[in-house]
Amino acid sequence: MCPKCVSHHVASILYGMPAFSEDLQRELDEGTMTLGGCDIDIYHPMPNYRCNDCGYKFRYVA
Ligand SMILES: [Zn+2]
Repeated sequence: MCPKCVSHHVASILYGMPAFSEDLQRELDEGTMTLGGCDIDIYHPMPNYRCNDCGYKFRYVA
């Protein structure tokens, strides 16, 4: 859930270069997964979710 706008339309952010597959493509199409690219900041905790409604990125650990 987005802490900013309380939307449930959030996508997991996948970092690095993923192996593309039909499953991954479907998740990207559905908006449950988004790509974070390779700019990994080792000094700060990386957000692992992005809100599809407001674009806010946040870190959530279940
Ligand atoms: Zn939001």
